[in-house]
Amino acid sequence: MTTPSLLILPGDGIGPEVMTEVRKIIDWMGAKRGLAFDVSEDLVGGAAYDAHGTPLHDDTMAKAQAVDAVLLGAVGGPKYDVLDFSVKPERGLLRLRKEMDLFSNLRPAQCFDALADFSSLKKDVVAGLDIMIVRELTSGVYFGEPRGVFDEGGERVGVNTQRYTASEIERVARSAFDLAMKRDKKLCSMEKANVMESGILWRDVVTEVARDYPEVALSHMYADNGAMQLVRWPKQFDVIVTDNLFGDILSDCAAMLTGSLGMLPSASLGAPMTNGCPKALYEPVHGSAPDIAGEGKANPIACILSFAMALRYSFDLGAEAARVERAVEKVLADGARTADLMGPEGGVPVSTSGMGDAVVAALDASL
Ligand code: NAD
Repeated sequence: MTTPSLLILPGDGIGPEVMTEVRKIIDWMGAKRGLAFDVSEDLVGGAAYDAHGTPLHDDTMAKAQAVDAVLLGAVGGPKYDVLDFSVKPERGLLRLRKEMDLFSNLRPAQCFDALADFSSLKKDVVAGLDIMIVRELTSGVYFGEPRGVFDEGGERVGVNTQRYTASEIERVARSAFDLAMKRDKKLCSMEKANVMESGILWRDVVTEVARDYPEVALSHMYADNGAMQLVRWPKQFDVIVTDNLFGDILSDCAAMLTGSLGMLPSASLGAPMTNGCPKALYEPVHGSAPDIAGEGKANPIACILSFAMALRYSFDLGAEAARVERAVEKVLADGARTADLMGPEGGVPVSTSGMGDAVVAALDASL
């Protein structure tokens, strides 16, 4: 069997800091579980611009296409705000997503019991929450044509077009059904079929795909009701699949049920490669946090949990992914908190590396 390959792109700001902690977990997997990864590292975002005058060098793009999975830290920072749009750090990330054709964006919303008090909702509503939102990422109203601001009879008109082909809906639906099969076998599809033709097509195609997944209980919900249900009783859901625009909003809403930005991982998946695994980019939801960069205050858990997603979805190592997640849970239950997780009662926060070391110690204890 060939060694699974992983390209690490730490990026800017706190990206390199949190990635250092992920490297500890990767090294632990090699040393203690005999799971070696062929790890390479390269530049993205502002770091790549500083070195090459572009936020993503062609060689890095080629490497990303060739590996089994890419793990990215974060890009951006005030230093780069003055750059032309075409070379801004975020363009590097967008190019990766576009050229790897990552159409399925997985955003888990998982509430660790120790952090249930952090949610803006009541503890019993969120404690133990574990849901997954699958957002279509490469089509829909953010990409549809025509788009623009036009002059129409002397008045300016802003236009965006919601457009989905059946095959675009089918592939993201399949990815959501596959995911549901690995979880509680419950899938809720959200659209606005009551007022949007693209929603009618969405519902039709998802219903057709469901025939190939008889074990999965499929339900449909209008996206506005979905938003209400997410804050009313989120535990009614397991996997949610929705389009690009609704997914953008609903996944942010669900993410905040669980507390800090520093806790949220994500995965973006594309079509299967020759080895059967999907093209994949894993990254924390947070940005480069320039306000705390270099201070050892960043919470590395979002990035560590992103690596856990890579273990599960790219390397078929679900048991090892669960081991990492349980280690994070234990560390939090034992009271370790980075500054972003400190409650009003205060206390002494652990540093970025302190949190990484604590997760490694919890992994050791799991053996
Ligand atoms: P941000 O996510 O970087 O930070 C928002 C707030 O959350 C800040 O107060 C920050 O200190 C805090 N925070 C974020 N991650 C944290 C962590 N792991 N631990 C502790 N605290 C954390 O968002 P922003 O301030 O709007 O953007 C800063 C830069 O990041 C901008 O250049 C933006 O374009 C970029 N950005 C990049 C990505 C990405 O790489 N995917 C995503 C969002 C923003």
